[in-house]
Amino acid sequence: MVMSNLKSIDKEENWGIGTKCIQSGYRPGIGEARVLPIYQSTTYKYEDLDQVERLFSLQESGNKYSRTGNPTLNALEAKVAALEGGVGALTTASGQAAVFLAISTIVQAGDHIVASNAIYGGTYTLLDVRLRKLGIETTFVDPEAPIEELRKAFKPNTKIVYGETLGNPALGILDFDKFSALAKEFDVPFLVDNTLATPFLSKPIKHGADIVIHSGTKYMDGHAVALGGIIVDGGTYNWANGKFPDFVEPDEQYANTSYTGKFGNKAFITKARAQYLRDYGPVLSPINAFLINLGLESLHLRVPRHSDNALKLAKFLQNNEAVNWVNYPGLEDNKNHERVKKYFDYDGASGVLTFGLKGGRQAIKTFFASLKVAALVVHVGDARTSVLHPATSTHSQMSPEDRLKAGIPEDMIRVSVGIEDADDIIADFEQAIAKAVNVGETEQIAG
Ligand SMILES: *Cc1c(COP(=O)(O)O)cnc(C)c1O
Repeated sequence: MVMSNLKSIDKEENWGIGTKCIQSGYRPGIGEARVLPIYQSTTYKYEDLDQVERLFSLQESGNKYSRTGNPTLNALEAKVAALEGGVGALTTASGQAAVFLAISTIVQAGDHIVASNAIYGGTYTLLDVRLRKLGIETTFVDPEAPIEELRKAFKPNTKIVYGETLGNPALGILDFDKFSALAKEFDVPFLVDNTLATPFLSKPIKHGADIVIHSGTKYMDGHAVALGGIIVDGGTYNWANGKFPDFVEPDEQYANTSYTGKFGNKAFITKARAQYLRDYGPVLSPINAFLINLGLESLHLRVPRHSDNALKLAKFLQNNEAVNWVNYPGLEDNKNHERVKKYFDYDGASGVLTFGLKGGRQAIKTFFASLKVAALVVHVGDARTSVLHPATSTHSQMSPEDRLKAGIPEDMIRVSVGIEDADDIIADFEQAIAKAVNVGETEQIAG
């Protein structure tokens, strides 16, 4: 009898990513619902006054009120923590709320952040405008600058170093070794937004991140139906190093509990829930937690398919004469391909690619109007192929010069390649590009 497989299957941490996607988080007992139930309840019944007292002083963990915990949300949190290899997680109403909550749990007025400039536009504005108004300064750095250059951005009051695994729309992959070395050198927590890569492609904690942030709205949901965010605590950072007194000193509102003292390597995620989710209130709804959890059940099938389809479309576009350039890190000749090999668990780079179409604005307009399978949508990660022209939408507030500096030329089209048949996606692009080329040529003759 061969027992070796039986032994390892007992432990959830030994499961493969597909088993975790489907079964981690919610583990029903006999006679209980096989599928994660939607606990559509704001309140919970208590045993007696003593239990209420224990719950409200953090001496006992449990659900008090759905703003700080709900069984459907808890199951999703446990699943994503398992997928990322963290010690705990916290869901929020949106990805944007997850970024804000993770940062506010760590910094206060007078503190400083070093952030990659190749990050999601919403996060850039949060750091550059909103947090500055609250007295929190951010220095943005070019993530490709040499380490000697990046060191200069750090100050005595720096409390966070921040980056994204796979940036959008520039599609650069973070140099984890360099950023985690800086985080260690300056002894600050390393926060990584892993939204586009998902834990299927890359697990930042393995590469030195302390905290991982997700917009669950993109590939986790995967069907464009629910907004949500998730913060995962790697349990790796030592908050008791003297820089973060709020983590160590007694919290008077919770019977003088010290987060590091009582919760050890879960100090961060406990503090985020007990203080910031409670007081700011951006809680995920149970139905959205259910939908994101349902999406996660096929993450390990969808992300490779998105990636394979994107690679096929990228190769087709590379060989099309009407295309100026193609950027997809999954392409062997892409400047980020080495990092796919180094930091990604799969030879692919999500469904997101960009390309430049010849022929000017009119050709681009005709291209968009001619698509039959893909649709013009401001979204990524959907099962359906989505396309966008950043210069007239997400980045239209910038001047053409600033856009170019941010790596967004006028001819750029962003594609979030879906999981339809690759042949159909390619045929759709082929016919739409052919129509665009005709218009572009007519325009040139007329001009
Ligand atoms: C979309 C996105 C966010 C914000 O998430 P929402 O769920 O839309 O609030 C944050 N980071 C990245 C990388 C994203 O793509």
